Amino acid sequence: MTFAELGLNPAILSAITACGYTIPTPIQEQSIPLVLAGHDVIATAQTGTGKTAAFVLPALELLTKKSTLPGKGPRILVLAPTRELAGQVMESARNYGRGIRPRCGTLLGGMPYREQLRLLSAPVDIIVATPGRLVDHIERGSIRLDRLEMLVLDEADRMLDMGFSEDINKIVSRTPSERQTLMFTATMEGDVARLAENMMREPKRIQLAVSTTSHALIEQRLHVTDNLNHKKELLNHLVSGADLTRAIIFSATKRDADELSRELSRNGFPAAALHGDMTQMARNKTIDRMRRGGIRLLVATDVAARGLDVTGISHVINFDLPRFAEDYVHRIGRTGRAGSTGIAISFASAGERNYLERIERFIGKKLPELQIAGFEPTTTLRKPAGRSGGPRKSGPGGAPGSRFGKPAGGRDAQAKPWSKSAKPAGSAPRSAPPASRREPVIEYRSRRPQA
Ligand code: AMP
Repeated sequence: MTFAELGLNPAILSAITACGYTIPTPIQEQSIPLVLAGHDVIATAQTGTGKTAAFVLPALELLTKKSTLPGKGPRILVLAPTRELAGQVMESARNYGRGIRPRCGTLLGGMPYREQLRLLSAPVDIIVATPGRLVDHIERGSIRLDRLEMLVLDEADRMLDMGFSEDINKIVSRTPSERQTLMFTATMEGDVARLAENMMREPKRIQLAVSTTSHALIEQRLHVTDNLNHKKELLNHLVSGADLTRAIIFSATKRDADELSRELSRNGFPAAALHGDMTQMARNKTIDRMRRGGIRLLVATDVAARGLDVTGISHVINFDLPRFAEDYVHRIGRTGRAGSTGIAISFASAGERNYLERIERFIGKKLPELQIAGFEPTTTLRKPAGRSGGPRKSGPGGAPGSRFGKPAGGRDAQAKPWSKSAKPAGSAPRSAPPASRREPVIEYRSRRPQA
């Protein structure tokens, strides 16, 4: 199927061609005809599948017809969980809409109100917003939603996870009931199903399998780690590899992202953190630095990195495994994009065994375990192994309360490019843990990242 066969306006088709897209992705092929036919649609699709165009293109098509309703409020409203994702949706709308030139803008938390009020002072076609800031505008009376024709909830599950349920309900209650509603989500269960039931009319369901095919170009690897120090040593070793051109390293918390990026920088691997405590300006600046090649390493939390679209990420490193299996798929989707290959490396200590099992159930396969000479774990996570597999439990290796208080040391991280010495687990003689790993470490405890 071609984009022309989907029945899109020529102005949209030429913008798509200018973007270099030749054929619709499966989510686009399935959702665009349904949306154009006026149906409510709920789709499970991960980032990286082309889901943004799947709703932006039919939304633009809707704008090719004039609104008959008076007022200044948006005709299309997209709600997104994070500022980054919202920014990317807006960028897509501008790109795909260049032939239509919709009047559009974002309403994002952490950004000045002045520009947003200016945007809302004249009739607007598309608004992309984070729920909290939109509710602020509703309460100030600076926006009305009575002209709304289409409401899109992007990453609806994530918005609910982040506690936006009440805000979403408030927003929906201000929109006309005859609006068209689209929902994109990683899961259709639980709260998402309830939300859909409350706000959608006989929605058509599109369920794209969490496909390993969409990640066919990503090589996934697992390194079992003994403890925090071991993770840090492995990380220092990996980031020194010549094949690592750009990497996103995922940590469990904002604080860890800060501390780990500082530690990497101290160790000679310039890195920056990306998390939700940073101002929007600081986040944009960091992403830009990465895009322009100023830094190779970004240490991020899940929420901040959602939807992050930086090309040329050679590696994703899960320093901490995500608690939710869907996040694993989102994370590794930062690499292996646009036809290039990527490597996704996960560290897992004994305390993360449950998360590992969850992820493997979700993706339907076992992550192949590798070991690097000189960095072999002394524990195992796989049964039956006959070893205890427990983490060493003792005091912190760094400053009190800090996981990264002290630079990782002990081994020459530059000694062997890891890609050459990496080998399947079990194929190497196990060496005694070096002195640096016999140091006491904090027992690992993963927490839900709050960006
Ligand atoms: P998304 O899942 O919306 O984040 O999109 C992932 C990436 O795929 C983005 O970089 C898009 O620019 C790109 N993309 C979207 N649709 C297509 C398409 N039909 N052909 C090629 N690339 C696409």
